[in-house]
Amino acid sequence: MTDKRPTKKIIRKEIYIVAVLFFALFAGMIAYYVYFMKYSARDFIYNSYNSRFSVFADDVTRGSIYTADGTVIAKTSKDDEGNEIRLYPDERLFCHAVGYVDKGMAGLEAEYSFDLLKSNINLSDKINNTIAGKKSPGDSLYTTLDYKTQVAAYEGLGMYDGAVIAIEPSTGKIVAMVSKPDYDPNTIAEYWDDITDSSKNKSSLVNRATSGAYPPGSTFKIVTTIAYLRANDGDDDFSYTCNGSITVDDYKIHCSSNKSHGTENLLKAFSNSCNSAYAYIGINLDRDQFTSAAEDLLFNGELPTMLSTTKKSSFTIDSSTSESVVAQTAMGQGDTTVSPLHMCMLVSAIANNGTLMEPYLTDKMVSADGDIVSQVDPVEYGQIITENEADLLQGYMAAVVEEGTAEKVDFGDLTVYGKTGTAEYTENKSVTHSWFVGYAVGDNGEKLAVAVIMEGAGYGSKYAAPLAAKVFEAYFQ
Ligand SMILES: [Zn+2]
Repeated sequence: MTDKRPTKKIIRKEIYIVAVLFFALFAGMIAYYVYFMKYSARDFIYNSYNSRFSVFADDVTRGSIYTADGTVIAKTSKDDEGNEIRLYPDERLFCHAVGYVDKGMAGLEAEYSFDLLKSNINLSDKINNTIAGKKSPGDSLYTTLDYKTQVAAYEGLGMYDGAVIAIEPSTGKIVAMVSKPDYDPNTIAEYWDDITDSSKNKSSLVNRATSGAYPPGSTFKIVTTIAYLRANDGDDDFSYTCNGSITVDDYKIHCSSNKSHGTENLLKAFSNSCNSAYAYIGINLDRDQFTSAAEDLLFNGELPTMLSTTKKSSFTIDSSTSESVVAQTAMGQGDTTVSPLHMCMLVSAIANNGTLMEPYLTDKMVSADGDIVSQVDPVEYGQIITENEADLLQGYMAAVVEEGTAEKVDFGDLTVYGKTGTAEYTENKSVTHSWFVGYAVGDNGEKLAVAVIMEGAGYGSKYAAPLAAKVFEAYFQ
């Protein structure tokens, strides 16, 4: 007689151990899957080089990208051999905003890759598609861009390098965003070597609207004006007699065309863009106060936006800075650099009575069934300019258009508030960037802020301001 019980016990114990191991393995896999979906899937899909091999792309056709007014600006189609290809119907028009998916990813294509490869259609349709071996359509992204306004900005810039950005001040919606030189995202793989050839120094992939670092020229007088008001408890009492130039530390600063502006109050100095008056203001400002005003106006820090890539603007004067550099800084030269986005944000805040809304480019994700999957709400950053300062600046910017440097610009029937700028960027002072920053008000009180820079074009009033006029016209028509 043999007692089998101990053997049975051993077998049962072994089965138990194996079952526990299997269970642990299974639980581990589930946990990993959940973890992957929650934390790593985004990174996995975001990793540019996985774009073609993504497991998600096997089940879902990448969704389309639209303007706010419903024009498709990126979509997935099939080539003659039935392979999926990404198409950009307007070629270069939206390249820096939308980006690309070949040769890595950029722009909204990169930022929203995860969302474009999700399908929120009806579950039973999705299951039917899976059973039939068909892909489900991905969710679509609606941007805040307005087609007509983008075209006006793009065509207005013409052959010039530079940038145009337009923002709705009450919400922060980016309505137009153009940067040149540009590229065609349809053929980026084909021309990649040429586009990225640094010896040609074109940096076409850089979005100059958000990442450009430009000398602000006279558009910086907005910042100096606010610093002056803050140093004087919000009082704009000021008088200066301009005789066409000012000499600081043996360095002579000229007014544009050496024009003598005569005796000016602050409004006149601003609307005439009087360099001598602003150099005088600069050297009489407390340097710490000047710096803190600039930093309150978002210099030397990350810009509060919902955009993925922006460049910090730089303002660097301290106790060691020479008097002549301070004078130049106050009128917009010196070492200060700024992005068009940043200038547009400052103008938006002025237009919005001092309150800054964070700029953003994406409005909502919509499923192929037409359901809204997610929506972006405007975010208020806060009051960066007091109501009194905004009120005064609005008056000064109106004077620029009515009787100042932009007097001759044809803005049609629109009420426009602005500041021109002509920024030197080389030793050769005859070559200058053309700037215009400002906003227009429509019939129903709606506003649009713009910043325009045209590299090497010349006077702001002659080139950038007329381009801004075209952008306003397209938006308000
Ligand atoms: Zn002057």
